[in-house]
Amino acid sequence: MKRILSLVLCAGMVLIGGSGCGKSAKDTPYQKTNIAMGTMVTQTIYAEGADELASHIDILLQQLETEELSYRLPDSKVSKINQSLGNGETPVIQAPLDTYIQDCLKLWEQSDGALDITLGKVVSLWNIDTYSANGGEGFEVPSKEAIEEALSQAGMEKIHLQNNLVPQDDQTTQQNSQPSSQFTFDGPVSLDLGAVGKGIALDRIHDVLMEGGASAAIIQVGGSVLTYGEKPNGQPFKVAVVNPLDTGKQLGYLSLKGQWCVSTSGDYERYVEKDGVRYHHILDPKTGYPVDNELCSVTILAKNGFLSDALSTACFVCGTKTGMELAKACEVEALFVNKNGELTMTEGMQKIFVENKQ
Ligand code: AMP
Ligand code: MG
Repeated sequence: MKRILSLVLCAGMVLIGGSGCGKSAKDTPYQKTNIAMGTMVTQTIYAEGADELASHIDILLQQLETEELSYRLPDSKVSKINQSLGNGETPVIQAPLDTYIQDCLKLWEQSDGALDITLGKVVSLWNIDTYSANGGEGFEVPSKEAIEEALSQAGMEKIHLQNNLVPQDDQTTQQNSQPSSQFTFDGPVSLDLGAVGKGIALDRIHDVLMEGGASAAIIQVGGSVLTYGEKPNGQPFKVAVVNPLDTGKQLGYLSLKGQWCVSTSGDYERYVEKDGVRYHHILDPKTGYPVDNELCSVTILAKNGFLSDALSTACFVCGTKTGMELAKACEVEALFVNKNGELTMTEGMQKIFVENKQ
């Protein structure tokens, strides 16, 4: 329960408004909240048979975590890739993971290395997810040597895209099969797609809503929110942004119509405090330590979940100035909150964000 409460309080955004509960009709939203992908999931769906759609989404999230993305669960595709790399084999990476990795490679380049999905060993070494969930019990700052060692096995320059090769079959390694991997790796890097997982989930959920004929929905998966369709009353969706300096309060909200994805990365989402220092879950790939800049949160508004999630992490690592340039280059809207509570926004965000008057 403690864990669930902390997830509710720490999710980067909250959904505002919505009425009705548990009904399934086109003009009354069906609402459901549970835990999936290690975080709080809130679904508000306007559709005939919305309860079935919500169950479908539950199963989708469960499968996405256990079968595809989790680096902690041994049977997921990401874990199998990591195991292959650890055994010195070249893994076969199939769709859609290959596309996610390619898209991450592009953003790694564009962000000058800020988004790096090969940090798995460094992330595991810090293990902030576990310690933030158990209140920091037993947490020790890893030694400099251990961080350097883990960091030496990271870096997306170690991933090479082989352009003309296409996956052929369902095997996990190249042994006994045609050369079919699209990627080769220099050494046993360890993939962690935690920075993009919730956004990928939103993109998959979008497809389920569309196929299921939903007229409108607002779905929150941890720090990422999808808005979809138009509410029966024609009113915009309101996606609140948490005040990172006082997580029980809201800074304001984004007023949105139609399909959007909003992701927030913040130093308050998962962290441990030790000797007065906050160690949070977003790491600087250059140092292997939690990012230590002027920021405490970044919110990105984009047309798809992958981009919003990837860029909220990347822009947090980059800091306000470079992060603003990155957001503009990627044609997304961004809101940066620094440790003094000052806001910096792209032009488009200024039109959409409604600040709470305190
Ligand atoms: P997010 O909450 O979307 O910003 O993602 C943070 C998660 O991504 C962490 O819990 C790690 O699993 C992973 N991660 C941490 N730092 C980075 C980074 N610089 N690049 C990519 N993934 C990261
Ligand atoms: Mg992210």
